[in-house]
Amino acid sequence: MDTLQKDNVDQSKSIFDIIEEFGHEQITFCNNPATGLKAIIGIHDTTLGPALGGTRMWNYSSDQEAITDALRLSRGMTFKNALAGLNLGGGKAVIIGDPRLKKNEGLLRAYGKYVNNLGGKYITAEDVSMTTTDMEVIASQTKHVVGLPKSRGGSGDPSPYTAYSTYMGMKAAVKVAFGTDSLEGKKVAVQGTGHVGEYLIQYLEKEGCKIFVSEYYEPILKKVASKYNVEVVGLDDIYDLDIDIYAPCALGGTVNDDTLNRLRCQVIAGCANNQLKEEKKHGEACIKKGILYAPDFLINSGGVTNCYSEVIRADQEWTKKHIETFYGTTMEILKDSLKDNRNPQEIAIEKAMSRISLVKKSL
Ligand code: NAD
Repeated sequence: MDTLQKDNVDQSKSIFDIIEEFGHEQITFCNNPATGLKAIIGIHDTTLGPALGGTRMWNYSSDQEAITDALRLSRGMTFKNALAGLNLGGGKAVIIGDPRLKKNEGLLRAYGKYVNNLGGKYITAEDVSMTTTDMEVIASQTKHVVGLPKSRGGSGDPSPYTAYSTYMGMKAAVKVAFGTDSLEGKKVAVQGTGHVGEYLIQYLEKEGCKIFVSEYYEPILKKVASKYNVEVVGLDDIYDLDIDIYAPCALGGTVNDDTLNRLRCQVIAGCANNQLKEEKKHGEACIKKGILYAPDFLINSGGVTNCYSEVIRADQEWTKKHIETFYGTTMEILKDSLKDNRNPQEIAIEKAMSRISLVKKSL
């Protein structure tokens, strides 16, 4: 199995060859014509525990695209959960279809039955286009669901915890890059001021950062600009600023050939998933440019840690303390990266895989 993630699945290969290449234990195809449900549940590795990862609903342009997403995302969760020190395996599910047109109670109940049939091997949560209310519908069919509202005994919105882990990871990266982890006076560009981005801005403001923001959605931008001491920049201008830290908190793939030619920062640390357009090429390009890249799946794992607290019935204090351990892990990985001149993403994945291999020996 290659350690670094590929952009696409080789479609000339048979589905079993593809699954073997990715290293999945099980893929479940769910088809319920009565409700229109078509879903794919990817269970990548359950060595450390049940596979936990969200369900996303998306209007994929082809079944192949949906399979690719399910395979990549579930594999990514194995590394994320392992590196975060959680006793969880990696899984993720995709529901095929336009959520605005096709998501309804019948479809979600049907989906919940499929999750239930897996007997706890897969635990689901929210992802793109899914809400805590949707999770409640799924929970009517299975107990293997987390991310329920606090009013139902769940752990609620994971975003504040994702922001906290991102903040911890950013401080660790700054310590390695600048010798002190104080963010006071640091110029930080936050791209995307949605759920996580806004919570992150609160930490940055408290530490006395000079904050630049860009946001695609006008009403959110207006709200954030009126609430915090931030300077608004254009969507594309964010890559040309003279800054210390670039914090991608919107979509993936923003660390690429074009932006790496323009970015003038010493640290990249944000919550967005899959920030490196190509993990190998752009991870190595960061090193050449002297930019410290804090692996996204490590520093954004506060959200899944919060979900895990629901599984083990831990309180918020435990979640916070656990997230604080990511500071040390990030420092360790980034120091190794500098020492050996190696891609930190690769080191992070190796570290996750080494934990899994060790545990496998004890089974
Ligand atoms: P969100 O949708 O609430 O916020 C993202 C924001 O980015 C939106 O407001 C959107 O308008 C904006 N945006 C999109 N494209 C943009 C662009 N080109 N430039 C500027 N702004 C742009 O999502 P979120 O929950 O805050 O998550 C942010 C990122 O973090 C996502 O990549 C998500 O996958 C990842 N993530 C989130 C969590 C979590 O707990 N929510 C956990 C792990 C990873």
